[in-house]
Amino acid sequence: VKIHEYQAKRLLKGHGIPVPRGAVAFTAAEAQAAARFLGGERWMVKAQIHAGGRGHAGGVRLVDSLAAIEATAQEMLGKPLVTRQTGPQGLMVRRVYVEEALNPARELYLAVYVDRATARVTILGSPDGGMKIEDDAVRRPGAVVKLPVDPVEGVKLADARTLATRIGAGAEAAPMVAEIAAALYRAFLAFDASLIEINPLALLENGRPMALDARLVLDDNALFRHPDLAALRDDDESTAAELEAARHEINFVAMTGNVGCVVNGAGLGMATLDLLKLRGVEPANFMDIRPVATREQIARGFRMMLGTPNLRCILVNIFGGGIMRCDLVAEGMVLAAREVPVRVPLVVRFAGTNAELGRKHLGNASLKAEFASSLADAAARVARITGDGGGASTRSRAVAHRA
Ligand code: GDP
Ligand code: MN
Repeated sequence: VKIHEYQAKRLLKGHGIPVPRGAVAFTAAEAQAAARFLGGERWMVKAQIHAGGRGHAGGVRLVDSLAAIEATAQEMLGKPLVTRQTGPQGLMVRRVYVEEALNPARELYLAVYVDRATARVTILGSPDGGMKIEDDAVRRPGAVVKLPVDPVEGVKLADARTLATRIGAGAEAAPMVAEIAAALYRAFLAFDASLIEINPLALLENGRPMALDARLVLDDNALFRHPDLAALRDDDESTAAELEAARHEINFVAMTGNVGCVVNGAGLGMATLDLLKLRGVEPANFMDIRPVATREQIARGFRMMLGTPNLRCILVNIFGGGIMRCDLVAEGMVLAAREVPVRVPLVVRFAGTNAELGRKHLGNASLKAEFASSLADAAARVARITGDGGGASTRSRAVAHRA
């Protein structure tokens, strides 16, 4: 689960991370009232969406009058904001956060995440915080400093101080930055987070560090332990498709590419996405049929899939097991195809229980599909159809994504 910046800041403040004073607003009038309440002469108005890159897209603005607050909020609210992380259709802005504006002298970067290579919660820092880190992190790998944390010992302040110094905090700021890093680590564990990112961690003119932006991603699998955090889930941020799918025993995640993926099981889904990405193919979404789904529910899901805009191909990757059988998925697909025309090529990989029967069902219904013999074969066929195959650099992508 992702939560909004203002919610993340409130939670992190509770763990001792310094954040600017601010107030959330749902209307332009509320935004102006918020600024009046905060006092001062300059404020930041920040669009609250579940994506970064707002600074480059006009979603973070410095304003210096109450009238300008209202106008700026008016301009942002009720419209989608397109950033390089949202996809071309953008995300609807339904709330803005109004904060006191501060003067950063330097902008650092600090994050806590699980490093897969070392299997450790890791603190990652960079002197190149702010809006250019993504490009810089890829170009200058030396500009990123990692501190893997021993789960038994926790963060050693001496190590955190070394990290702080290496990312450019001076003698005065380094101990404070180290304390913030340690506090972020504690917050990461307390919230069962999967990512905390502070970008920028500003060093203010008075020398003090302050988190000007905060991103907190919570681990869905641990959410049952945090009813208070689960309540922060913002249904507005789920696409209509995701909510509709959930009603039919289907997990649906919208993405920004052009290949629809139908799978059964999250693990199979991840493997499918990885293989496609490896070939430079961009998934449009990810539709995971739960084991309890009926033929009619599968049909509803597949109908939604067929209605996805900008689709160039659909990959159906089903591993039939004891509960979900390939023939049942095929029957659902056939039902859907009777109502919604199939305008894009289908690549189908059926394996396991009733795979052959599933293929036969599609054939009997004259539903044209390329059958793949393996997952790798399926990804290759999809890449051929979409004309991808350069093999995007997944590694640099992963780094950029984290930044
Ligand atoms: P993002 O682009 O979505 O990550 O949004 P941020 O919250 O990081 O804001 C973008 C940029 O606005 C930051 O990198 C800062 O450079 C700048 N910014 C944010 N808050 C302040 C502030 O209080 N004062 C000033 N001068 N700049 C700010
Ligand atoms: Mn930011």
